[in-house]
Amino acid sequence: MTPPLLERRQQLLSPSYRLFYEEPLHLASGQGAWLTDVHGRRFLDAYNNVVPAGHCHPRIVAAIVAQTERLNTHTRYLHDTIVDYADALLATFPFPAQATFTCSGSEANDLAIRIARHATGGEGVIITENAYHGVTSATAAISPSLGKGVNLGMHVRTVPAPVAGTDFAAGVRSAIADLQRHGIRPALLVVDTLFSSDGIFSDPAGFLAPAVEAAHEAGALFLADEVQPGFGRTGSHMWGFERHGIVPDMVSMGKPMGNGYPVAGLVCQPEVIRDFGASIRYFNTFGGNPVAMAAALATLRVIQDEHLMENAHTVGAYLRAQLTRHPGIHDVRGVGLFMGAELRDGTIASRVVNEMRVRGVLISSSGPAGNVLKIRPPLIFSREQADILNNTLGAVLEMVLADG
Ligand code: PMP
Repeated sequence: MTPPLLERRQQLLSPSYRLFYEEPLHLASGQGAWLTDVHGRRFLDAYNNVVPAGHCHPRIVAAIVAQTERLNTHTRYLHDTIVDYADALLATFPFPAQATFTCSGSEANDLAIRIARHATGGEGVIITENAYHGVTSATAAISPSLGKGVNLGMHVRTVPAPVAGTDFAAGVRSAIADLQRHGIRPALLVVDTLFSSDGIFSDPAGFLAPAVEAAHEAGALFLADEVQPGFGRTGSHMWGFERHGIVPDMVSMGKPMGNGYPVAGLVCQPEVIRDFGASIRYFNTFGGNPVAMAAALATLRVIQDEHLMENAHTVGAYLRAQLTRHPGIHDVRGVGLFMGAELRDGTIASRVVNEMRVRGVLISSSGPAGNVLKIRPPLIFSREQADILNNTLGAVLEMVLADG
């Protein structure tokens, strides 16, 4: 007899994999913000930021199928869709730029590190204390949130996240000074503009500006990691950096870009990538292939045509207002449909996340102590779905807090 799936998985897959939830989910299908497991039970997805348009959006599925049936090659042949997509994507940027397409956010950030080193002649990279930027050697070395087993490079300096209005720029300035003291020239400041893994710090909008200025003064470039905040999630802007009134040298993106299809990219100001491009060939076999571009173009059009950014704004504000009313939640942060609700400690947050799952609503937690509930539903999330989340959370908090 075949052993249960969980056992086979543990035997056959790398021990590095981690499942969500004490009681793992075995999913069979998805539609909109709803997921259905193999037993036919429905779950409200308030966590998956890879599907801004909702699971299995028909227009995006059709675009992927149509291009798959016609042709799939790579970027060394002329093809309309990659240029049409670059055109549509770059039109959402407030400055002139050029795009490189990759298969993952990690590859985009990895490329950004190479470009920064090439352009500045420096080595030093500045990140936040609990940052996550990817799985490659270079990006894992700037991802302290991966855990104690990760070796940050000698060239890496961390700065505290802007907890409780602390002066983020002061941290960046002292990291620059420390790099210089050690004879390391700063090359790059990398910030996830919503501080997703640091505990979600969105406000006050604008606080990133002096930090970026300090990096530029030291000769370093600024990379906005928009893998989580990008494509309208903040509700007010297409890109998280826009809330801060800053102009990044490079912008990396991924996750929501193809509504689940693996596609990611790096957008650079032309003068930043010029010398790198002139001397180093970039070819990423699957990056920017016609099917990936068809998926990305359809996703961007759905975000625009269905006004998903506006929906993120209104439903996000509605949801946040409700969240603040629950006892046990000390602080509610975030913008649009990306929010953090701070609880007393990580043990309580973990119980809440698991109990929500038992009751059919999927969320997670974030921050160095794991005490911040992380809520990031698809951008199609409705008020009614926000009500379901809130009512479930209210009942769960009541139970968990009563237990002490
Ligand atoms: N940057 C950030 C902020 C991310 O959240 C992630 C993925 N969690 C990445 C980079 C890496 O993206 P990917 O998993 O597509 O390589």
